[in-house]
Amino acid sequence: MIRQQRQVIVLVALCLATCVPIFALAHTPAATYTQLGSSALGCVAAVFCGIAARRAGGTQRGGWALLAGGCLSWGLGNFYWSWNELVVHAEVLFPSFADYGYLLFPVLGAAGLWLISGWNSVGSRLTVLLDGMIVGCALFVVGWAVTVRSVWEAGADTPLAFVVSLAYPVSDIMLATMAVLLAARTRKGSRGIGFLLILGLAGMTTSDTWFALATSAGTYYTGQPSDGGWFVAFAACGAAGWAAMRKPMVFDETGVMSRWQIMLPYVPFSLAILVISGQTLVGARVDAPEVVPMLAGVILILLRQLTTLLHNSTLARRLQHQAYHDPLTGLGNRALFTDRLEDALDLRTPTAVVYLDLDDFKMINDSLGHDAGDIVLRTVAERLQASFPGAGDTIARLGGDEFAVLTSPDAGLPAVAERLLAGLREPLHIGARTVQISASVGIALSDDGPMRSEDLRKNVDLAMYAAKAQGKNTYALFEPSMRQGFDREMMWRADLAQALADETLYVAFQPIVGLGDHRVVGVEALARWTHPRLGPVPPDVFIPVAERAALVGDLGMLVLRQACAQFVAWPGSTEAYLSVNVSPLQMLDPDFTARVTATLAGAGLRSQQLVLEVTENALADESEVIGTLRQLRATGVRVAIDDFGTGYASLRYLHRFPADIVKIDRTYVQDIARDPAAARIVGTLWQLFGAIGLTAVAEGIEDEAQAEMLIELGCPVGQGFLFGRPGELSAIEMQPVMQTRPYATSSRLTRVVE
Ligand code: C2E
Ligand code: CA
Ligand code: CA
Repeated sequence: MIRQQRQVIVLVALCLATCVPIFALAHTPAATYTQLGSSALGCVAAVFCGIAARRAGGTQRGGWALLAGGCLSWGLGNFYWSWNELVVHAEVLFPSFADYGYLLFPVLGAAGLWLISGWNSVGSRLTVLLDGMIVGCALFVVGWAVTVRSVWEAGADTPLAFVVSLAYPVSDIMLATMAVLLAARTRKGSRGIGFLLILGLAGMTTSDTWFALATSAGTYYTGQPSDGGWFVAFAACGAAGWAAMRKPMVFDETGVMSRWQIMLPYVPFSLAILVISGQTLVGARVDAPEVVPMLAGVILILLRQLTTLLHNSTLARRLQHQAYHDPLTGLGNRALFTDRLEDALDLRTPTAVVYLDLDDFKMINDSLGHDAGDIVLRTVAERLQASFPGAGDTIARLGGDEFAVLTSPDAGLPAVAERLLAGLREPLHIGARTVQISASVGIALSDDGPMRSEDLRKNVDLAMYAAKAQGKNTYALFEPSMRQGFDREMMWRADLAQALADETLYVAFQPIVGLGDHRVVGVEALARWTHPRLGPVPPDVFIPVAERAALVGDLGMLVLRQACAQFVAWPGSTEAYLSVNVSPLQMLDPDFTARVTATLAGAGLRSQQLVLEVTENALADESEVIGTLRQLRATGVRVAIDDFGTGYASLRYLHRFPADIVKIDRTYVQDIARDPAAARIVGTLWQLFGAIGLTAVAEGIEDEAQAEMLIELGCPVGQGFLFGRPGELSAIEMQPVMQTRPYATSSRLTRVVE
């Protein structure tokens, strides 16, 4: 910024310096030759503006081209004049080609500046037009008093000559008008270029005015000091072109102007009033050409006020809309929702609040990016509007992925909620990806008596939490008993967060053995938590709490770290693998693979020594988890499908899952010893797994009958209390756990206790 300012100051100084030689040569015989300099400068300015036009885009391109044309026509016109004066020594006819060249400059220049400064896109065009007309009228009054009247009264030989001689002062008024408008509209960031252009116009107007006055007084001679303005004019236009070709002008599209910029058009008007007052005071004549534009100016100012008032009222309406609406979805915002809710409760209107929180939205945002997240939010807004089309309903986005609807309680809300959830589940295509949205919805109704909006909001929050606790993608109606449930959940979350911070969670290990030779082939790490007051809490209880509280990522990493650290120090780690459970939520973290690799490296384990267990449901087709599993397998980590048979994975897709091991749930194992049909199913499963290259592990083997049966059915590997309960890793020995009769409970087994 500072560098830019310095650059502008240097440029302005250089432009001003171009008129110094004129002052120096003014009263010498060389004065007439300075004409050549201003002509050349005009052409040079045309070149720079031309290059700026080539580099610029949009309307600015045309603007710079017009300005270049204006500079060139002035330069050529002046060359023509100089040629006649210096070489031919001819009396130049008036009007001549030179005059057309000169007069084209203000015409093309003004049009060019209009385009360059982007007025055709900024704010209200009508205001700009009115400003221009006000400034034009005012400057005409001033110009009439200063030059136009004398030119008018001097007359000319031919009507054409008269028109052309009048065109000079009038075009100067036009240029001065442009200068004022440009000053009022130039924005930060382009002020340097704007300033140079204004300097150029000022130089041109000064020299032209002096020229007109001196000519009508018959005192003008070529190269007089006032001609310096033309030098400044073209030096400045050239410099502006040079600056613009390096960095195009930028305009703040909001069209917000500072106070002085708003006031600027009124300055010439005040000047005009001063001029007329002065004339009246000294008893000079005030002509119709002064009175008419003055009155026109007053009318224009009134119009300007009117448009400003109208504009402001639209602006106020827009601001109010913005204050109460969410820009992303166009729905109401929290402020609107709270206002309407409070109004409804104040009037005791029976009211229902439906509160919707998207499930795992953070995962979508993190894994697919914020643009995808925005699309999801807009889609949810549309689907909500489709579910609540009533004119009396208020649909709002409260922030993030939370939405709320204020509606009437007699609308069959559970059915509506069900339809809404079904609608949300419709797959959404974002680029090449398909996303399925689900949400947890809470519904609460207002009491008959007086009720505070905070209480209703709290109730609906609780209902939503209940829906989340029921496994998400569902709705719940508020019931008073939810208050205790909520308090309990919050207690669990706080205590679990504390346990994670203190690292008081620890890991137990259960052996996984080869059913043929009874050697330990692997160990499964299982999280353990002893609550300070309640004692041991089973993972089936605290893992879901961790998932709901978004703590499962930290929990999983803690388990993995501890498991790796213990495993590497265990003598069996050279032969057996380490199996660790992961929640699908953990794998939606885009950095999950990197974190696993880093943990393995930190512990000094090879990726081939690790198996990660994922439940079957996480592998549902299209799931985001699949990508992560592929990445993991590419690093050498193996993947096990956990609890196979309890979820809804389809056998049809089994071969496509990126997995190495499949763990048959213990419910199947429990049945096989009693039920021949169950045995046949499990036996067939083994064959299927073998055919598609998956190693099968039977879970929950508790007695010899089950183990014998599994051996018969050809199951290679198993896990269960028969071989050892989860306990300390150091207690697991690598030798075959049963020596004499394969499935007799050995004394060693009882040592491996919890
Ligand atoms: P899972 O992965 O199926 O783990 C095996 C569960 O079965 C363990 O329960 C284990 O104690 C139990 N089990 C082992 N053999 C037998 C048997 O012969 N009979 C019976 N009835 N049960 C047996 P646990 O440790 O209570 O773990 C329960 C579940 O919690 C695990 O099921 C797993 O899904 C989850 N879990 C445990 N630790 C973690 C963890 O670190 N991260 C994640 N995400 N989930 C974990
Ligand atoms: Ca497991
Ligand atoms: Ca399991």
